[in-house]
Parts: sequence; structure tokens; C-alpha cells
Amino acid sequence: MEITADRVVTIHYTLRNDASEILDSSSGSEPLAYVQGHGNIVTGLEKALEGRRSGDRFSVTVPPTEGYGERDPALVQRLPRRALQGAGEIQRGMRFQARDQNGVRVFTVTAIAGDMVTLDGNHPLADQNLHFEIEVVDVRDATAEELEHGHVHGPGGHHH
Ligand code: ZN
Repeated sequence: MEITADRVVTIHYTLRNDASEILDSSSGSEPLAYVQGHGNIVTGLEKALEGRRSGDRFSVTVPPTEGYGERDPALVQRLPRRALQGAGEIQRGMRFQARDQNGVRVFTVTAIAGDMVTLDGNHPLADQNLHFEIEVVDVRDATAEELEHGHVHGPGGHHH
């Protein structure tokens, strides 16, 4: 069966950066299941999967514009520590969710200097080329319930 909108696609993937370091991989664990055409995965990878079939293996490089975006310096903010009251002891690498006009954005603490905390709302993989190796494991039609929810139920997906 061919990959097209509203089909449930199961893939094994390995993601590397420009330095060929592995950033993420499904190897050795359950493959990833997603619904094609619903923005469940980055745009560039979804495009590259369109029209593929079970058993296909391929590599694709996704640029930042079709991946996790280009770095936006405006998303780096410095705040006084007291603005993060209730968060406990602030440490580098901590993450906070904040709402903006685009929905919920995750900010990561990237620096602490005296009373000032630097928060970065860019995705950790912003500005990076994403080098994927993909194996298409399975393609099937989504159920009505899956389409309504916009995500996969059962193995590799959400469980209710
Ligand atoms: Zn659901």
C-alpha cells in the first residue's frame, strides 16, 4: 500500500546531524507510527515519505525550513530569577512551557548569571539539517477514530 494522506505509516528511522552524530533512532525499540498528512512529523520528512511503500528504504536530508525551523534570536529572553517563582531551583537544561501566539512553546534554560536566567524558545534542532535514514515497515488505512484524533492508536502510537 502506498503512503498517502490519512494512512497510518510505521517507520524505523535514524536521525543524524551534519557531523553524522546520531541524534535519535528507533533502532532497537518499537518503530514510530504516525498519520500521514497531519503534521505529526516534520514537513520535509512527511513529503519524502509521500508515495513510498512498505519495505522501502531511503535517505533524505531535510533543511531547517522543513525541519525544526531557523533559529530566531527574538526567542532568547533574559528574565530575573524571581519571574520563575515556584519552579524550584533553576538549573541549566530545565524546560518551561509558555503560551504565545503560536500555541505552547518550550523554553530551555541555557544560562544563569547572578539573578538573571536566559531562556531559549528555539527548538534544540533549529538551524540543523536533519539527515534521516528511513525504513517503511507498514502502511495501512487509518480508522475513523484515529482520523478524528489526528494520531495513531495501538502499537507505536497513543494508547487510550
Ligand atoms: Zn486518540
